[in-house]
Amino acid sequence: MSLKRSKYLFDEALKIFSGGVNSPVRAAVKPYPFFVKSAKGSHLYTVDGEVLIDYVLGYGPLILGHRPPAVVEAVQKQLERGCLFGTPTELEVELAKRILNHVMHKGKIRFVNSGTEATMTAIRLARGFTGRSLIIKFDGCYHGSHDSLLVSTGSAASEYGIPNSLGVPNELAKLTLVARYNDINSVKRIMKKHGNNIAAIIVEPVVANMGVIPSRRDFLRALRELSDDHGILLIFDEVVTGFRLALGGAQEYYGVKADIVTLGKIIGGGFPIGAIVAKEEVLDFLTPKGKVFNAGTFNAHPISMAAGLATLSTIENDDTIKRASRISEQLSKIFEDHVSELKIPHWINRVESMFQIFFTEGPVKDADDARKSKRDVYSRLHEGLLKRGVFIPPSQFETVFLSNSHTKEDLERTGEALAEAIREAVRRPELKWS
Ligand code: PMP
Repeated sequence: MSLKRSKYLFDEALKIFSGGVNSPVRAAVKPYPFFVKSAKGSHLYTVDGEVLIDYVLGYGPLILGHRPPAVVEAVQKQLERGCLFGTPTELEVELAKRILNHVMHKGKIRFVNSGTEATMTAIRLARGFTGRSLIIKFDGCYHGSHDSLLVSTGSAASEYGIPNSLGVPNELAKLTLVARYNDINSVKRIMKKHGNNIAAIIVEPVVANMGVIPSRRDFLRALRELSDDHGILLIFDEVVTGFRLALGGAQEYYGVKADIVTLGKIIGGGFPIGAIVAKEEVLDFLTPKGKVFNAGTFNAHPISMAAGLATLSTIENDDTIKRASRISEQLSKIFEDHVSELKIPHWINRVESMFQIFFTEGPVKDADDARKSKRDVYSRLHEGLLKRGVFIPPSQFETVFLSNSHTKEDLERTGEALAEAIREAVRRPELKWS
């Protein structure tokens, strides 16, 4: 794989950006990130003239692949009209109705600019609405880069949170209690002590940030019941799962309703977006009607609205979700076949159009299980695939995403690359499989 120009650009980038990048996972691509010039469908075209099959898809938003004609056309049209007015547009009303129709019939919505802003606002809203301060999150779940949720306690579940990042005050982190994913007893233990002081439980209904970890249906149901019993707002963070698992997201997929749903990624069609959906009586706590503050120069940005509308119209009217899911099933089977042949411990979690492979005896049902995976093998697999023109996430704790633009040829080429890359990844004398 040629990387000459990418190396030059990365050397420049190192002088001006911390670690050479603007979001940390991008620096995990070794020996350094490849720089992209353009993309189309399932392919990325690098500045060095390489063509890569893309299973990262911008970390989830691009369920239609790169540059889908409907989105390009909608964005071009909107650009000609203008891109920022500081006053409402018809587009935001249309996109909001479309989202609410699938996510919460009688709900209301606020558009923001990222998944981070969505979960940050959702937490503030829950605290404002309930008048309580504590929140529960789950070990391994990621909800964006704001202070209250940059907290995890590793395997010491159900203890007070410890910040993941310097700069998050302990006083604030202590307000975030961490439970174990798929383990309702860990939540009950926290409830027993703090139940009446908890404003919200926030959960990824399928974890996409520890590799992929599906939730057990009874787990989400139990969260629903516990929340009801204690007057707690249940927040489904559907930034990844929204419009990917089903039009109605994880709520529809698992048949469990949340009080607040946070969205992002797919609903912006590749442009920056976030959204908070909640029942009317909750959402109306936001300013200007209510007293929980939220504002944003770019909220409901017309280009994101246009791209989101074009994306959702496409998904509503064709079989994108099913097709991406079918391709994901085929690709995960290709992974399974190649890896099984080598008789090494592994486990694949797949939910519809997202999956991840772990190099550990399964099952992987929580963050501790995921952490047992041999991450060095995963990294080498990533590197080996990349050398052969296939881009999967550089981190074990990210998700392989499929789109409706991936083709049979993509899968065949990936299979060929995988056959070699996986052998390369596991044949290291220092590796001991126990
Ligand atoms: N929630 C989840 C479940 C996510 O996976 C992410 C990012 N991958 C976020 C929130 C934050 O979204 P953003 O990067 O748009 O701020």
